[in-house]
Amino acid sequence: MTLLDLDTRAALAPRSISGDRLRKLVAERTGDPVLGHEAHVVSQVLPFKVSSYVIDELIDWGRAPDDPIYRLTFPHRDMLEPEHFALIEQAVAQGDRGTVRQAVDTVRAALNPHPGDQLSMNVPQHDDIDGSGMQHKYSETLLVFPRQGQTCHSYCGYCFRWAQFVDTPDLKMAMSGPEAMTRYLDLHPGITDVLLTGGDPLVMRTELLASYLEPLLEPGREHVETIRIGTKAVSFWPYRLLAGPEADDLLRLLERLTAAGKHVAMMLHLSHVAELQTDAARTALARLASTGAVLRAQAPVVRHVNDDPRTWADLWQAQVRNRVVPYYMFVERDTGARPYFGLPLARAVDIYREALQRVSGLGRTARGPVMSASPGKVVVDGVVDLDGGRAFALRFLQARQADLVGKPFFAKYDEHAQWWDDLRPHGPRDREFFGAGGNA
Ligand code: SF4
Repeated sequence: MTLLDLDTRAALAPRSISGDRLRKLVAERTGDPVLGHEAHVVSQVLPFKVSSYVIDELIDWGRAPDDPIYRLTFPHRDMLEPEHFALIEQAVAQGDRGTVRQAVDTVRAALNPHPGDQLSMNVPQHDDIDGSGMQHKYSETLLVFPRQGQTCHSYCGYCFRWAQFVDTPDLKMAMSGPEAMTRYLDLHPGITDVLLTGGDPLVMRTELLASYLEPLLEPGREHVETIRIGTKAVSFWPYRLLAGPEADDLLRLLERLTAAGKHVAMMLHLSHVAELQTDAARTALARLASTGAVLRAQAPVVRHVNDDPRTWADLWQAQVRNRVVPYYMFVERDTGARPYFGLPLARAVDIYREALQRVSGLGRTARGPVMSASPGKVVVDGVVDLDGGRAFALRFLQARQADLVGKPFFAKYDEHAQWWDDLRPHGPRDREFFGAGGNA
């Protein structure tokens, strides 16, 4: 793929397609009308959006539906339980909007829209500050969700924030401006890290992004040392970083932040090595790196997309080649389309270990597999045989209860376990680690 006609590409906005257009696109490109019908049905429940870059430059349609980027972005009938799929299919066939709406609400409510108690447990509570667009789970880090950044250039089928993208107001976390963030930071000088997240903050115009980031340079906010920006733009819309005044202004903004002494970390969501094989993506990474920002990469390990050690090894090697530091291999969260994408923890550990063995030291920096669960970030270090039987060796990388961080503990081995809630303490001394999660 070459970098042709950049200005034209940059002027094109990513496009959303839905309904009949989605059905026709899938049917035409794959030659399979059934796949088109099923994608249309599933897209009633789970949000769907795809950029022209993903359609025209990333997906290998000759391999669809087994192409990993197709699996990553396009709906498939197995993303829903069979009874849920049948319910929606029936409602769509009836053609009555009220019936479809009712069926969709029923199914969405069954898909655990807010895993990890995010809405109830992590939102800052202050009498005079609206905390609804922030999360403060760990003492040193504040997550900020700008309202205009609560969408992405395309959507991942496994998105753990899918509920943000459907039109149910009480499922959204979003901040309407930077004032609540700056007031909260001024009251909490222990916060060293601000993470701008979404959605994807890079869907925002640069001027708006600057309205959140430039106040962090003001006197009194020196305690904010690190600014992280979570994005999948390199994979879904690299033209955001390549051409036109918006892209150039963004690079200048990042340069101002790094020149002022902030550690700027671009938290890149990279799921598959195919995302780094276009000239557009590689040039976008080079431009980002030129600003002085540190590039780090993370993604969940998921079925149908990257559930293979070779894929992860290739991905980590490509990241290192492009000056990106492999950072996290996550476990798919207990929400949305997990029946389709989820893997047993035992398999995730095997993939991680085998992938690690295939790369040199600089490629071995990703921590994993990691569950971002209600009590904290838990890494599964491996499977061990202890006196009481087989067990998962675990460690908190982050925890609500800070004194638990870094101490090894064990859970009973369960070949089917996919998430923290499926795990039980191996022995009495392990109970304190599970107490916070309620599954002791
Ligand atoms: S980039 Fe992140 S927030 Fe956006 S759809 Fe993918 S997983 Fe969800």
